[in-house]
Amino acid sequence: MPPSPHALLALMAYGLAACSCGGPAERPASEPAPASAAAAATATASSSGPSARATPAARSIDVAYEAATDSWRATWAFAEPTPGILFDRRSPSNRHEAWKPEPGLHWVMDHGSERLSPDDGAPRTEFTVTFPTDDDSHGRAPPLNLRFSNGDRLLFTSQLGVHALTCVGDRCDRRDVGEPRGWRFHTDAARGLRVLASSAKGELAWDEPRGDLRGTYLYVGDLPPVDAGAFSLLLDPGLPEWLRRDTERLLPELVAFHAREVGIQLDLRPFVFASRGDASPSWQLRGRTLPALIQLEAKGVDWNEAGPQLARVWFEFLAHETFHLWNAQLARRAEDARNEWLSEGSAIYVAGLALRHAKLLDDAAFDARILRASNGCLATLKGPLFDAAADASYYDCGEMVEFVIDRHLAGKGGVLGLLAATFELARGRGTYATSDYLTLLEQRATDAAVVADVRAVLDTGLGADPPGFVARVLGRAGLPVELAPAKDGPKVVLKGGAAPAR
Ligand SMILES: [Zn+2]
Repeated sequence: MPPSPHALLALMAYGLAACSCGGPAERPASEPAPASAAAAATATASSSGPSARATPAARSIDVAYEAATDSWRATWAFAEPTPGILFDRRSPSNRHEAWKPEPGLHWVMDHGSERLSPDDGAPRTEFTVTFPTDDDSHGRAPPLNLRFSNGDRLLFTSQLGVHALTCVGDRCDRRDVGEPRGWRFHTDAARGLRVLASSAKGELAWDEPRGDLRGTYLYVGDLPPVDAGAFSLLLDPGLPEWLRRDTERLLPELVAFHAREVGIQLDLRPFVFASRGDASPSWQLRGRTLPALIQLEAKGVDWNEAGPQLARVWFEFLAHETFHLWNAQLARRAEDARNEWLSEGSAIYVAGLALRHAKLLDDAAFDARILRASNGCLATLKGPLFDAAADASYYDCGEMVEFVIDRHLAGKGGVLGLLAATFELARGRGTYATSDYLTLLEQRATDAAVVADVRAVLDTGLGADPPGFVARVLGRAGLPVELAPAKDGPKVVLKGGAAPAR
């Protein structure tokens, strides 16, 4: 049975919060900017220190999947010996708990980074580990693996990205920043391997785009991709038929919606991997966008039975993830994770617009959605929204802020026009950040108080009187609200139950 509407709302919040939706937010924490101090320091050390001849280093990563044991073996090989390898991605940092190094190697934890080092300290050219398939969620990081119900697997390559080291005394630097990485995947000779549009049986090579460490999902299996126009789909045969049908029908519709609303056509043809997940009692969604790729997972028995509520949730999930193709792939967000409030806030707000456009939400339900987000923001935001510590508020507060901006810019392109200008800027320059977005907002806004409110939320939070502040900004955005007492503090509700002004 699908959950009741009340339970659905609670689960929906959880499900979307659990959607560690992709984008540059998930770029490796340790990935340096091209001209970072770390890169410069590496170059200096390499040209003057004892390991100067160690650059450039050829790197190859060999990954084998063994179906019989449902486990993986990874070997990193370098042209020059290295005293250790440092993993790019700090989150999750549980490799040292689950990944078994070959004899002679051990794990070193260093300020939240994981490193593999030889026991004897002697530099070497090869490092090997084995690890079991792990499809658990670890925080908001992408799952290492996803399981298809027929035994197929996905593997997130970014979790296996490493740098060789150059050490001078006690100081070690990454010596191969920006160097190309060549991957070679293996499995049983009769089993298929795929990276995006490239596939082969038993063995597949992949040259990772140079300097782009966002990674991809390797697919191990033999399902043929389905041509769905704007997408190639790889759908788990265990997905309920109605979810398969909705996915095939909705993805092209949603791409058309986003392209029309943003005014930028999708210039790539993504692969979509949709897996069934396990049959846990309550449902959950996990999704991710990566370069030219969307990963979707539907977990839980509830999905087996079609119904309007879950159909709406699935629609929103697809709308959210496909919008990340614009705000994380076509336009790349700056590396600073604090900008995630904008990529998640805009994805969740635009998903609401898509729901309303498809008449899956009427105006009253749309307003109720904004009120729910605003109350969620009230309940969770304890400081600036533009802060790594505010990540639990990125969705709700981001949706509220985007709503306020959309109403203020009505008649001037709305929030989608502002986002389009932001994306165009990023396409010309490489990335976009919150500061770009605010500058463009200032250029379009006619009421300086609205810009001041948005800046306040980002820079300081909801102020000394959070409920009053939220009621004021929503009222100014044409949603007349009042405060109602609640157990955890006042909440915003529609004023007098009246229909909101349009
Ligand atoms: Zn997302």
